Amino acid sequence: MPKDFKVAIVGGGVCGLTCAVALSRRGVPVELFEAAPKFEEIGAGIGIGPNAARVLQDIGVLDEILAKAKESKLNQRTFRFISGMEGHEVLFEYPGNPDDVGLGVHRASFLEALVDLLDPGIAHFNKRCTSVEPVPENSSRYVLHFTDGTTHEADVVLGADGIKSAVRGAITGEPAAARVSFSNTVAYRGLVPWKTLQEAGVKTDLTYRPVCFTGPDKHIILFPIKNGEIINIVAFVANHHIPIGSANLPPGSPWVSQSTQEELLKEYEGWGPDVINTLGCIKEPSKWSIHVVYPLLQTYVKGRIALLGDAAHGMLPHLGAGAGQGLEDAWALAHLLSHPQTNASNIESVLEAYSRMRVSRSQMVWKGSENIGEIYDGCGEHGLTQEGIRKDLDGKWSPVWHHDMQDDLREAIQWLEDTGAHS
Ligand SMILES: Cc1cc2nc3c(=O)[nH]c(=O)nc-3n(C[C@H](O)[C@H](O)[C@H](O)COP(=O)(O)OP(=O)(O)OC[C@H]3O[C@@H](n4cnc5c(N)ncnc54)[C@H](O)[C@@H]3O)c2cc1C
Repeated sequence: MPKDFKVAIVGGGVCGLTCAVALSRRGVPVELFEAAPKFEEIGAGIGIGPNAARVLQDIGVLDEILAKAKESKLNQRTFRFISGMEGHEVLFEYPGNPDDVGLGVHRASFLEALVDLLDPGIAHFNKRCTSVEPVPENSSRYVLHFTDGTTHEADVVLGADGIKSAVRGAITGEPAAARVSFSNTVAYRGLVPWKTLQEAGVKTDLTYRPVCFTGPDKHIILFPIKNGEIINIVAFVANHHIPIGSANLPPGSPWVSQSTQEELLKEYEGWGPDVINTLGCIKEPSKWSIHVVYPLLQTYVKGRIALLGDAAHGMLPHLGAGAGQGLEDAWALAHLLSHPQTNASNIESVLEAYSRMRVSRSQMVWKGSENIGEIYDGCGEHGLTQEGIRKDLDGKWSPVWHHDMQDDLREAIQWLEDTGAHS
C-alpha cells in the first residue's frame, strides 16, 4: 500500500544518500536536500566493515559499489599491526574468519554508485537547512528552512547532515555546537600509488591487508583501494591525556586545512624507515582536527524527526566503523519506515523504535573507537609489545562485525507490536 507520509532527508553524504536509495527502493516517498551544489566526497579512501557490507548487500547496492570501485569482490581483510619503529616488528595479525571481509574503496566511487541509483528528481542542491520547526497550523508536519529563503514541508525529517548537523538542534533544543567536541586527535591524510611507495623504498606489503603502524601517541592506518594500485594513508597524532570535551579548538579555527610534508615528517621524527618513506610520499597532506559528537545523545529522535550517521554519533575513526554505523542507521530506518504496518498515525512510535535499536549499538562503537585508538598509541592496558597488543586487541572487532542486525530489527518490530503501535 502506498505510504501516507513523506520523508525529507537533510544531507546527501554517504549516509543520507544510502538512506534515500533504501527508502525509495522500498516504496517510501522521499526527497533529499543537500547544502552543496552537487553530491561530493573528499579525495580519500573509506573502509567498509563486513557488517556494513552486509547492510549494503541487503539494500541491494553492494554490486554497484563494487563495479564502480572496479573491484570484483569484497577485498578488505583484517589488520596487521606493525611497530612503527626501526625493525618494524610485526606485533599482531588480527585473526579473521572467512566472512570477515569488507571493502576498501575511494569515497568518490562509493558516492557515485549511490548517485547512479537515485532518482535524480529526489535530490535538491544548494539547500542548506538552518532549522526544522513544526508547521504552525499542523504540528504533525514540519517545515524545513533553507539559507536561500525557501522552505519545504514534510511529515518525517531525517537529519543526515553530518557532525555539524543543523537538524540535531530540533531534537536536543540546543545549538548544534553544544554536542560537538574536539577529540584531541589530528589526522594527516593522503593517497599514494603503491608503485611510488615501492620506489621510495617501502618494504612492508601494503597491498594485501590493511596495516597499522603503531607507536607512542601516534599511529598510521594504511589500506589499498583501486585494486591495490593506490594506498590510502591516514597518520594520526593524539593527546590521550586530555579528556574529550575539555579542550576545544578556539572558535573559528578550521577543522580541515592544508598541511606540509615537513610538518608531517616532524611529527614522526625518529620512526622507522617504512613510516618515514611512506609519509615522504605525501606531498600535500590534508590535516583534519577530528571532532566527535560529545556529550553523547540520549535519543536520536523527537516526534517525527530522527538523526542518522555522524549527525547522531560522529565518532573517532579508529575502528573504521563510523560510516558503517550510519549505514546501519539508514538500513534500520528503511526497514522500519517501509514496514507494511507503518503509517502516518504511528510514525512517532516507529522512530522511537529506531532510536531504541540504534543508540546503544552505535554508542558502543563510539566508545570502542576511542578505546582502540588508545591501544594503537601505546596507552592500552598491556602496552605495545607483541603480547600486550594481542591481549588488548584480540576480539575487539567482533561486536562490530558479527552483530546480527536482523535480530535488532525483529526486536524493534516486536516492541512496536507489544506497545500496540503495530497491530
Ligand atoms: C580521518 C577519517 C577516516 C575515516 N575512516 C573511516 C572508515 O574507514 N570507515 C568508516 O566507516 N568511517 C570512517 N570515517 C567516518 C566517516 O567518514 C563518517 O562517519 C561518514 O562520512 C559520515 O557520513 P554522513 O553522511 O553521516 O556525514 P557527512 O559525510 O558529513 O555528510 C553530511 C552531508 O550533509 C551535508 N550538509 C551538512 N550540513 C547541511 C545542512 N545544514 N543542510 C543540508 N545539507 C547539509 C554536507 O554537505 C554533506 O554532504 C572516517 C572519518 C575520518 C575523519
